[in-house]
Amino acid sequence: MSLPGRRLGDDHRSDGNLKASDLGKRDLRARDVRGRDLRPCNLRDNRAVSSALPPSPSVDPTHPADDLGGRFRGPYSPLTPTFAAQRDTADVQTRTLALLEQLIARPSVTPDDAGCLTLIGERLEVLGFRLERMDSGPDDFRVHNLWAVKDGSDPSAPRLVFAGHTDVVPTGELARWTSDPFVPTVRGGQLYGRGAADMKTSLAAMVVAAEDFVAAHPHHAGSIAFLLTSDEEGPARDGTVVCVEQLRQRGERLDFCIVGEPTSVERLGDTVKNGRRGSLSGKLRVMGIQGHVAYPHLARNPVHQAAPALAALAAMTWDAGNDYFPPTTFQISNIQAGTGAGNVIPGEVVVDFNFRFSTESTPQGLRERVQALLEEHGLEYQLDWTLSGEPFLTPVGSLSAALSAAIAEETGVATELSTTGGTSDGRFIARICPQVVEFGPLNASIHKINEYVPLDQIAPLTRIYCRTLEHLLL
Ligand SMILES: [Zn+2]
Repeated sequence: MSLPGRRLGDDHRSDGNLKASDLGKRDLRARDVRGRDLRPCNLRDNRAVSSALPPSPSVDPTHPADDLGGRFRGPYSPLTPTFAAQRDTADVQTRTLALLEQLIARPSVTPDDAGCLTLIGERLEVLGFRLERMDSGPDDFRVHNLWAVKDGSDPSAPRLVFAGHTDVVPTGELARWTSDPFVPTVRGGQLYGRGAADMKTSLAAMVVAAEDFVAAHPHHAGSIAFLLTSDEEGPARDGTVVCVEQLRQRGERLDFCIVGEPTSVERLGDTVKNGRRGSLSGKLRVMGIQGHVAYPHLARNPVHQAAPALAALAAMTWDAGNDYFPPTTFQISNIQAGTGAGNVIPGEVVVDFNFRFSTESTPQGLRERVQALLEEHGLEYQLDWTLSGEPFLTPVGSLSAALSAAIAEETGVATELSTTGGTSDGRFIARICPQVVEFGPLNASIHKINEYVPLDQIAPLTRIYCRTLEHLLL
């Protein structure tokens, strides 16, 4: 998609960043002598073509993403006084870290929740959230899901949802961990433990942010919700997708969603995902006739027949991408043929391939083009497709503006919007929520041995979430 009426350029990038010397100056009022426009948010994709935000967030009033009955009040000035800004950093750190350590100590390998949702639910219930368990799936793979809502004082005001997962991937070989993955351990300025980055720090920060927000603004206008699952890392069949369907059926309103996936690359806040590419896989079986290599006229070599078709697929331009997405890519991951003998023409060749596709292509369109090309090459084939994720995209709007403003206020970092990387539960939530972004701490160690989160990202993350609530729900 493109931005109607506005072409994003990178002419604002250079002065959109605060100087390094600003970092650590938490009192935002100290910055107001600069008289700077807020330009906290850059767009980025694989082609590195983009692009910074125009001087104010590019909000298209006709776009449904911002159809909040005129409630959008951005752009958010970095001078906006917030409660989060005044909160003592050491106190925020202590409370977030304590909850984070409790979560890491629960070995919640997919689909096990190990009591994480009960712990979080208890914290939210005290704040006045209504809890609803939406557990799903068979007994031998029971998935734990929690939907929790705290209404605001104004029913017409927006609802912001914090979404995430309590499950973690398996530890891998325990002997390779420096400390027990389920005993949170501080070493060298980092907190180690399975799930520290993906994504228990975000969960703890979201809960403490909600606590601080409600304490400071007991009569907040907008409502807050949590949508949490214990199966994001696994098959993800009974997790968020099931909850989304239930919420859709009863017409629940979701205006904004922040998924707590770890998106930061080098510094906290440098990257927010505002979409993800889709993923479409194919298993292609090209049939020939097996025979002796010395008698090819009695056989039909499927490798020879498939090779030109595969070369054509690999060379094909599928689309040109757009302002938010790089062009769609086609990649072959496996090819298998042959009996192992050097004198046998194989009877078939099996090819696995995958598309990572932008919003310029559709799964149906890609399927049709592949099939047309295979027909053109006169192949006898079978083709099985698996669609593992539709793409989603949140154009620049009030949520990305509020979040990037909060990041700039808290860290001085100019955020870039990105649609790179794998899939996440954001793809499901986007079905019922017009604005979905992902934001969390450093992702360098996710799924690895010795997963960690930098200690100095914990309190700022809580405060960024809290500031975002303040920007959108007051
Ligand atoms: Zn994750």
